[in-house]
Amino acid sequence: MLTLDQVKLKSQARLVGLHPVLVAATVALIERCYARGVPIVITQGLRTIAEQDSLYAKGRTKPGQIVTNAKGGHSYHNYGLAIDFGLLQLDGRNVSWDTTRDGDSDRVADWQEVVQEAKALGFEWGGDWTSIKDYPHFQMSFGLALSALRQGYQPTAAQVKAAFAVIDKLQEEASEDMSKIAELEQVVEEQEGRIAALEKRLNISGKETYATGYKDALEAAKAAGAVTTSADKSKLELNMIQILFNLGLFTKGAK
Ligand SMILES: [Zn+2]
Repeated sequence: MLTLDQVKLKSQARLVGLHPVLVAATVALIERCYARGVPIVITQGLRTIAEQDSLYAKGRTKPGQIVTNAKGGHSYHNYGLAIDFGLLQLDGRNVSWDTTRDGDSDRVADWQEVVQEAKALGFEWGGDWTSIKDYPHFQMSFGLALSALRQGYQPTAAQVKAAFAVIDKLQEEASEDMSKIAELEQVVEEQEGRIAALEKRLNISGKETYATGYKDALEAAKAAGAVTTSADKSKLELNMIQILFNLGLFTKGAK
């Protein structure tokens, strides 16, 4: 199992050039999915217009299969407003695009868990598109059509502020949850310590060696046939045996 830092490191290079809101949202997405037992990796972030043109040529003017229907300037990736993801395999290296996998066995497909988290963070999902679906794709359009982006329009300051507020709120709640969990763990640890101390006192586990003060009483009790062993006695029993011994009952019986 990879640590969160190791998982994050795998996507770090893909965050370069993304809009600041998408950087924050993507980091939060990686963290929140990890917390749900679904490590993900970002496979695509910013794609320059030249890169997009070269990708568009694949399967058309260049060899290979068609991988995109978007020419340069016709993808939100070209404006740092989109990401693609994959599910990190258990080996921590390979990536899976199996949308039905349930790696954390919680009866919710891992893919859907990622989609839920992404939408909560403000992403639109390519799987919701009606024409050509793009399941690994998330974007934030800020209501801007690609034609508007090509003309140089950008998200407004108010839109950016509102988007950050959504992300920050979720992340604050998550950190509150984490500190609550830490508090609960502390309480459980304390309780365990108290239980162990109590068990020791009552000798419930049978591991306690009785105090030497009871030695004479126990030996007399054994000799009298009142007890067969002295190893498993609780403090309460030891006290009773001591009382009976003090009353001279074992001595009498032994005679
Ligand atoms: Zn994409």
